[in-house]
Amino acid sequence: MTKLLLATRNAKKLGELRRIVAAEGLSGLEVIGLADVPSFPEAPETAPDFEGNAVAKARDAVAATGLPSIADDSGIAVDALNGMPGVLSARWSGRHGDDEANLDLVLGQLRDVPDERRGAQFVCAAALVLPSGEETVVRGEWRGTLVRERRGTNGFGYDPIFRPDGESRTSAEMEPAEKDAVSHRGLALRLLVPALRDLG
Ligand code: IMP
Repeated sequence: MTKLLLATRNAKKLGELRRIVAAEGLSGLEVIGLADVPSFPEAPETAPDFEGNAVAKARDAVAATGLPSIADDSGIAVDALNGMPGVLSARWSGRHGDDEANLDLVLGQLRDVPDERRGAQFVCAAALVLPSGEETVVRGEWRGTLVRERRGTNGFGYDPIFRPDGESRTSAEMEPAEKDAVSHRGLALRLLVPALRDLG
């Protein structure tokens, strides 16, 4: 078994990568998370783009553990905000990880923006870095529209106000497996599968 580190403490992200690895028949790979390796200093995310943050996190994980490592960075890019909050999505309100405050701020900023200009996309960059130094970086995007009031209780972050194109529900009203099948993160992780096949 080859150990593959997903540089996260998020159990949902781990579960999602494990399901993809199983579904793709990558039987030689055992996916582990940061909780399964000795802790090491985690640098703040300072890159100007998702790809830069994902690669930096994956490089740090390889340097600290010697294991092939995947890291991701994600967020929402709102058309009417010129692509922001972008890499600042998790800390848009000024408090890192305060989903409710972040969401209220974006809703307030978009109050007077008409329905036809409320487009947005979730973006996820994922990086696989090997101990040899080989790097694979991919990007998944999921287009939709920001609705005016929260709907649904699944998911996290901006899910209650994101209605994917072609959907009548928000992503917080979708079942988790349904979201994984079409989301920015699901897409990015599946784009890494060819590189993972070589690894296993
Ligand atoms: P990360 O954990 O540094 O990638 O930050 C991701 C941030 O972007 C989260 O805190 C959310 O605010 C937002 N985000 C990324 N993906 C999603 C998603 O699938 N649903 C809702 N919000 C998301």
